[in-house]
Amino acid sequence: MKTEYQHRLDMMEVGRRVHGRGWISSTDGNFSVKLDANRILTTPTGVHKGYLSVDDFIVVDMEGKKISGTRNPSTELAMHLTCYRQRPDIGAVVHAHPTICVAFSVSGIALAQCLLPEVVFTLGGIPTANYAPPSTEEVPRSIEGPIKDYDAVILERHGSVTVGKDIFAAYNTLERMEHVAEITFHSRMLGNAKPLSNAQVNELVKISKNLGLPERKITCNDCNACGKHSGGACSLVAGGTSMSVENALVSTDSRAAASTPSVEKVAASVLPNVSPELLALIIREVKAELAAMTPLRG
Ligand SMILES: [Zn+2]
Repeated sequence: MKTEYQHRLDMMEVGRRVHGRGWISSTDGNFSVKLDANRILTTPTGVHKGYLSVDDFIVVDMEGKKISGTRNPSTELAMHLTCYRQRPDIGAVVHAHPTICVAFSVSGIALAQCLLPEVVFTLGGIPTANYAPPSTEEVPRSIEGPIKDYDAVILERHGSVTVGKDIFAAYNTLERMEHVAEITFHSRMLGNAKPLSNAQVNELVKISKNLGLPERKITCNDCNACGKHSGGACSLVAGGTSMSVENALVSTDSRAAASTPSVEKVAASVLPNVSPELLALIIREVKAELAAMTPLRG
């Protein structure tokens, strides 16, 4: 069993790694470790997580009430407490702002596709939780559902939450999800980013069972992220509004997407001086691109 002092040193190391990779800037991000059934050790608010000191940390109870420490916990502590409540199996939570993961969510593109075998093995999928204004009660509510089934969740336009048996496991999962995002980004730039087939995914699930790996929920099978399954409504995001790819592109606010104008209307208003023939060609190309995109939610 690690001492509390060792947990502090471990979180300082994780802070250096997350900052070193560029996944937090300034005072962003927060980490926590479950010391026992009633106590959580967590990072302070307003302090740079890349340069933490041993005495910066705070101990809180399971309701978030401070037990010890001179500083104050992050306003996003509630999100950590939600993770521990939903997942009695975990011992640590890492919240960061990984660049490419967040960029995908800002662009309205999900990372839920089954593109890489090791992701099917280790994470199953990477769902995106509903947009929630940072530091509000909506943030913990937005992850309540997805964190039950997944170790890595993207917070739309905000960051990531990863959980694990200890702080390094939660950090490793963050590293993996951002790596997947990076590979996905580059393959999309090259064009023709092909997801694994349904048969390949099912084969991987079988192999992982034989290897005795923990069971993972496969996102695509639930929300049809790959466009290869016949699955119905997405069960990932509690209360999640469905967001079509067209809505994601033409509306910057997914909540105000109910009465989305047609692509033709938007194109004509954005490009008023383009000839109808060229406009028709652009619309055709955009629609083909859209068809190849994955919506945030099924
Ligand atoms: Zn944040």
